[in-house]
Amino acid sequence: MSNVKFYYGGNVPLEMHKVRIVQKLNLVSIERRLEAIKEAGNNTFLLKNRDVFMDMLTDSGVNAMSDKQLAAMMEADDSYAGSETFTKLENKITEIFGKKYFLPAHQGRACENILSQAFVKQGSVIPMNYHFTTSKAHVYLNGGTVEEIIIDEGLNITSEYPFKGNMNVEKLKALITKHGAEKIAFVRLEAGTNLIGGQPFSLQNMKEVHTVCKDFDIMLILDASLLADNLHFIKTREEVCKNMSIREITRAMADLSDVIYFSARKLGCARGGGICTNDKAVYLKLRELVTLYEGFLTYGGMSVREMEAIVVGLDETMDENMINQGPQFIEYMVNELKKHGVPVVTPAGGLGCHINAMEFLSHVPQSQYPAGALASALYLVSGVRGMERGTVSEQRDENGNETFSNMELLRLAMPRRVFTLSQVNYAIDRIRWLYENRKLVGGLTFVEEPPILRFFFGKLATASDWQTELVAKFKADFGDNL
Ligand SMILES: *Cc1c(COP(=O)(O)O)cnc(C)c1O
Repeated sequence: MSNVKFYYGGNVPLEMHKVRIVQKLNLVSIERRLEAIKEAGNNTFLLKNRDVFMDMLTDSGVNAMSDKQLAAMMEADDSYAGSETFTKLENKITEIFGKKYFLPAHQGRACENILSQAFVKQGSVIPMNYHFTTSKAHVYLNGGTVEEIIIDEGLNITSEYPFKGNMNVEKLKALITKHGAEKIAFVRLEAGTNLIGGQPFSLQNMKEVHTVCKDFDIMLILDASLLADNLHFIKTREEVCKNMSIREITRAMADLSDVIYFSARKLGCARGGGICTNDKAVYLKLRELVTLYEGFLTYGGMSVREMEAIVVGLDETMDENMINQGPQFIEYMVNELKKHGVPVVTPAGGLGCHINAMEFLSHVPQSQYPAGALASALYLVSGVRGMERGTVSEQRDENGNETFSNMELLRLAMPRRVFTLSQVNYAIDRIRWLYENRKLVGGLTFVEEPPILRFFFGKLATASDWQTELVAKFKADFGDNL
């Protein structure tokens, strides 16, 4: 996709793969969509896939595999101990990251459990560019606290800054001085910072963070789950890295890390996860926990077929033409929406397109969950399923008061190599229509509110009967079309 220019102009992301297996999609009528979203309590997590046209909920475990990955899965070597497949994976990790020791785990959060149990103690402080839900939860479970020291630019919704995922190095030094290096269990850098819109950090920033960590003898841990996008952005946005290959950039990042872990539900387009390091003492400490929580050291809770898929997937991650499809589709979508005045997070990141619901639905008060309302409304008018990333995803405080989220975002994830550009254009079209008709969209209120993780299972009702009006306007504009 990288170097193709269209003679007649236009910034068209051209796929460098062809599709050889397809899955039929259903686009159910708007009447059915209205029923479905009511049944789901306006919570897109509770929709059934049969009612969904484009599933943009997440990029986790839903990326398309390549022909080579599927073929490799057929020749997996199954055995409890000593499987040849595991040796292949271990060798691939060493080849790509230059790390001698590899520990398998069933997914990303399992790596976080193991690392936190091994290194986080009561009173530990863990500086991060930004937290991810599960990484933070495991630190707190083990008695530690998280300090988010992303650069200020990272939290600006609209920006031109290319590396919004950078860590503020001055704040890192200040934290270490304040708490003392022995209190800092490790520093965690997250590639493709998930919760702020898949935003990357630069190699330069990582070097600076590494230097500080070395000065104070603190371990630097890289969460490489969203590494593929971060690699693409370093290559395309960081001038000094323009002529480096993806493999070289990866190795440079790995050399700056003491420990790397990843969710293979994202990295390598398969399922599973793992941790690697060159430090033997670290390896031995983690090894016990892997056998306790995950499984024997040659599978760690993964099926051997998935491990074969990861081997090939990691190799394909080193190919710019295999990893740029996601970010380029996202960039296309973000730019098209921006062009038409729809408020989106900029610059485009990895992971997906993020719509700023606070501005999109500026007439809906935060107490009525604008991002949740927008997720519900978009599903209703399009069959596109996104994910609320706003106040619904937060938890009430100990007095039962609402904790308002800093941002109210509707995340539309872009699973890799799954959608075609016309499907993306369809989503853009319906979002534009909804934007023009945004005043018809109202808020939501909880009818069933679980005390923890309410965004997964909670049910909400509309604050007024706005959905009926929205359906009527849709039918007036689209007739009997879907
Ligand atoms: C998804 C994700 C994880 C957790 O991985 P799972 O496989 O879902 O457990 C950790 N870190 C980041 C940055 C992620 O995006």
